[in-house]
Amino acid sequence: QVSNVTFPPVLNSDEQILVNSFDNTSISTWSYYYTHGDHVAGRNRSMAQWTADRWAENGFTSRLDEYYVYLNYPVSHSLQLTYPNGSTFTPSLTEAVLEEDETTGYPNRIPTFHGYSFSGNASADYVYVGRGQQVDFDRLIALGVELEGKIALAKYGGPFRGLKVKNAQEHGMIGAVLFSDPSDDGNMTIFKGVAAYPDGPARNPTTVQRGSVQFLSIYPGDPTTPGYTSKEDSPRAARMNSVPQIPSLPISWVEAQPILQALNGYGTAGVEVNRTGWVGAIPGVNYSTGDGAGASLSLTNVMEDAYTPIWDAVGIINGTNQDEVIIVGNHRDAWIIGGAADPNSGSSVLIELSKAFGKLLETGWKPTRTIVLCSWDAEEYGLVGSTEWMEEYIPWLKGAAVSNLNIDIAVSGPIPGLAATPDLHTISTEIMKKIIWPYRGTVNRTMYDVWEEEDGDIGVLGSGSDYTSFVHRGISAVDMGAGGGPNDPIYPYHSNYDSYHWMSTFGDPGFHTHKAMGQYLSLLLYHLSSDAILPLEPANYGPEFDKYFEELNTTLASYNETLDLSELSAAIDTFKEYASQFNGLRAFAVSTNNTELLNVQNHKARDFSRGFASQGGLPGREFFQHLIFAPGLDTGYAPVTFPGITESVTFEGNFTLAQEWVGKTAQAILVAANILKT
Ligand code: GLU
Ligand code: CA
Ligand code: ZN
Ligand code: ZN
Repeated sequence: QVSNVTFPPVLNSDEQILVNSFDNTSISTWSYYYTHGDHVAGRNRSMAQWTADRWAENGFTSRLDEYYVYLNYPVSHSLQLTYPNGSTFTPSLTEAVLEEDETTGYPNRIPTFHGYSFSGNASADYVYVGRGQQVDFDRLIALGVELEGKIALAKYGGPFRGLKVKNAQEHGMIGAVLFSDPSDDGNMTIFKGVAAYPDGPARNPTTVQRGSVQFLSIYPGDPTTPGYTSKEDSPRAARMNSVPQIPSLPISWVEAQPILQALNGYGTAGVEVNRTGWVGAIPGVNYSTGDGAGASLSLTNVMEDAYTPIWDAVGIINGTNQDEVIIVGNHRDAWIIGGAADPNSGSSVLIELSKAFGKLLETGWKPTRTIVLCSWDAEEYGLVGSTEWMEEYIPWLKGAAVSNLNIDIAVSGPIPGLAATPDLHTISTEIMKKIIWPYRGTVNRTMYDVWEEEDGDIGVLGSGSDYTSFVHRGISAVDMGAGGGPNDPIYPYHSNYDSYHWMSTFGDPGFHTHKAMGQYLSLLLYHLSSDAILPLEPANYGPEFDKYFEELNTTLASYNETLDLSELSAAIDTFKEYASQFNGLRAFAVSTNNTELLNVQNHKARDFSRGFASQGGLPGREFFQHLIFAPGLDTGYAPVTFPGITESVTFEGNFTLAQEWVGKTAQAILVAANILKT
């Protein structure tokens, strides 16, 4: 394979200072610190202060921003299976303590539970509901399965876990149990020839996925302060519509096995249900719906409500243009003592990044644009720290924010991955050519080369991490992280085994991928904060619009009714025209050395995407304002493009509403186009 990328990459002297400052050994030290203490949201003040202190040592002005938010913490829980003959099985609801991994046996380790879960009991027959998407429930109803009053047994994977609980609740079910499955998770004893942890990197069979069950696609942030910031004396709204009202628990596949087996041969067998991701890979289980099995579950979940402070650490280097700001964010809270991948691979990288910029500051360098580092708290409960911060600073951010660079799980495997708003595609791609990427034992290729061969596609942003609040106020964003490919075992997400031992032994021995990821983020930040021509490319939206338009047509093709999309295609054409005029004028400003005009063009590049954010938001969810992409209503993580139009069709089957949204979407595109023009 021939690459058009220079190797080794040629770097200017500032870039060299940044890149050479990165040291894998010190990243390992930061990782060790972060992965050896409780950092559940609202309980990690010392780590917040430590983070702010490290940033301050490296020349950033740092502080803690505090919010008072609703969270809940686990008190006790239980689960019992009763067979038709009256005998019982009682899962332990714990992950095995491993001699090889000291943090899995910490006395203060965090129980398996769901953040924002409902306190309550449920005793009833149970139904296997697949991955628990609305289409899965539709299928169950078509099969005549009774749901009302029963407990849902759902498989992890696919949609965000909170939406599985939401769907169960909306079908009159009274509790939910969510299990990991080897087919999604690779947590078999042997997975694709790889041994399970601690003998190898594959998931230990007792792995349990903790996580929030907030109804993420409605609104993120503190459920009691939708749309405004949570201070100690803030008025509180009822939290009912964005968190569950039925209890739920997560369990491992080994403990789900007998519960599923008790349904074998009852109702409809999994293969006949014929739904995406329905049939998993637990031995001896055929994933039957379970009608008439006569087995029942009894679950209890006791959570303690808390209105509690959380802390976002903030570190600033002021630029010469203070009306242009780049926000670099990563969350700090985790569901477990370790969290070596999620989020501490990102947190460790940010400490090392601050060190690199400290070195650059020592040379007398100053960024053109202001740099703000943020270490978010309470991401795991529902993007709470970043959302409350955005809600507090929105008047400033609306005017000044250029981009949000988000790094969460910086490293869980060897393959670099990116998702970004289109205006960041060019610079995100170009910077990859400047980084040497260690890959499965090789060190002779750039990040770009590896990425192009293994992935080669920049994703569309949905949700699931802290870029969400920024994107939905019309701020450009990129989310980055290196992960495994289809043939790699999946890392122990939200489990005790996402630990320093796992990371240093299997995930990224020597922390070389951490280092490369940090170098990448540093150079991206350097160019966004310091290039005379702000490296955002509004015109990149053009070809993306065409793609989304095609996809919309494909979606519509399976319906009998049609939509008139002429307004939308006209708006897209106008956008392309104005974006190309924008490029022309920017090139003219550069060639004539007209700094004033260049400044105007830079501001347009900063501002135009605010046009995509519409005040009223999407149907039924005013928080989500970006009309070009949004997390799917029933996916939570995965994005939907032209969501107002698409979901009016796919969700509501309402073509009148969809036609209205064609107009609104076209309007948003025109507003953005006009910002580029004027
Ligand atoms: N990243 C966390 C998760 O996937 C939180 C996502 C959210 O609540 O938006 O569980
Ligand atoms: Ca709020
Ligand atoms: Zn995370
Ligand atoms: Zn997480």
